[in-house]
Amino acid sequence: MLGCHYGPKGFRDRVPRVETNGLPSGGRVLCVAMFIAILFAVPLPPQVAQRLLGGALTDGVAYSRLAELTDTIGPRLSGSAGAEAAVRWARQKFQQDGLSVHLEAVKVPHWVRGEERGEILPEPGIVGHPLVLTALGGSVGTPASGASGEVVEAHSIAEIAALGDKARGKIVFLNHTMGTKGGYGDFVGLRTRGPSEAGKVGAAAVVLRSLATASLRSPHTGTLVYDPAAPRIPAAAVSVEDAELIHRLLQRGTVRIRLWLGCRWLPDADSANVVADVRGREIPDEIVLLGAHLDSWDLATGATDDGAGVVIVMEVGRLLVKDLPRRTVRIVLYMNEENGLAGGKGYAAAHEAELTRHVAALEADSGSGRPVGVTMHAGEGGVALLKPWLGPLESLGLGEPAEGEAGGADIGPMAPAAVPFVGIQQETSHYFDTHHSAADTLDKVQPESLGKAAAAFAVVAYALAEMPQPLPRPAAQPARNRQEPAKPAPAH
Ligand code: ZN
Ligand code: ZN
Repeated sequence: MLGCHYGPKGFRDRVPRVETNGLPSGGRVLCVAMFIAILFAVPLPPQVAQRLLGGALTDGVAYSRLAELTDTIGPRLSGSAGAEAAVRWARQKFQQDGLSVHLEAVKVPHWVRGEERGEILPEPGIVGHPLVLTALGGSVGTPASGASGEVVEAHSIAEIAALGDKARGKIVFLNHTMGTKGGYGDFVGLRTRGPSEAGKVGAAAVVLRSLATASLRSPHTGTLVYDPAAPRIPAAAVSVEDAELIHRLLQRGTVRIRLWLGCRWLPDADSANVVADVRGREIPDEIVLLGAHLDSWDLATGATDDGAGVVIVMEVGRLLVKDLPRRTVRIVLYMNEENGLAGGKGYAAAHEAELTRHVAALEADSGSGRPVGVTMHAGEGGVALLKPWLGPLESLGLGEPAEGEAGGADIGPMAPAAVPFVGIQQETSHYFDTHHSAADTLDKVQPESLGKAAAAFAVVAYALAEMPQPLPRPAAQPARNRQEPAKPAPAH
């Protein structure tokens, strides 16, 4: 069998499987000719592309590190022992890979969950039911005796306000119709703002239908954001099945529920972003930043949110130290993305003076699915500049890069400095099945998809750090700070 897989089109299909051993000499000459042709036709040197793709796809390092991070360190909510163990773990892995690594201190909010439970109380002719629920991140707890009341249902922020006095002393049940991943953006405002809106109309507590695309009766947490002007009331997510039950029972008549939430706030904790550089061989002052967040929610081991992103960007560092590009590639493992964004804001503030030399930023926080596209938010002509470098991605099934949504919560605070954002879009149709729930565990991750995602990030990072001209910068934008910490002000 002829082993030369290079060719005008073959390169795209077969980069990870290049073999030249045992070729007849004629085949070998042809192969070398094709190789040279490709070398001049493709800006990204084929042998580099082969090493990046091959390493990410076959070494299995990203997956084995994800297993270590999730199974041996566990959940990593800001302020927890797990978060600090993850910081130490990541620093050690970067050192092992030969990157220049340091920690950058950040103060993080420290919220703990405690015990939690709830029930639908029996009514004449209707039995009581246990509720499967979990506190929203940042919620205040209930009194030891719990919070109870009659349930009123609402489906939007406007409907909560419209409840007016009908909500006083009641439990506001926030129901919605999220069925696909796109629904997260549509309904996440119910989680972040709903509790304060319900507090304004005098509600005793909130229960939210989990933001999820699938459910086997798992509740999904996520941060809420208390409005300083509103009373802070306890808030929990119920599983989709429990939400359906509450909704059905409301058709029959009065529904009353009681919930006990033991969550509480502790003093802010010391933590850190982990920052590791692959120092550029020619222009080390110019930086391509790759970010992911090291913290996770506490209910599970955060395998897809964002353990996968962490090992994807670590894998890029591990591979690039063997093929140094012109510019520096900086890997930042941010702390506190989930409930405060202290790491993202802290990095942008600490590095403000050098953000003009951040030539691109990418964030890996979309799980472990295979890559499906490359998008960018850069200046005019950015797509055309990057496009010739991304030929090797066709072997992963990706098309050409395009203008589009790119960015992320942690790199968002760099938007005012007009840093170009590049996005590797990933397959996420099942991401919200387990997102922020007790089911976000390693078994949801397919090693092959994870390897492909790491390969795509590696090729794009290398291209951005190697191309002669950096991407044109977009217009400066306001910081995309998705959320403010939910922590109650000390006066309350
Ligand atoms: Zn995330
Ligand atoms: Zn998250």
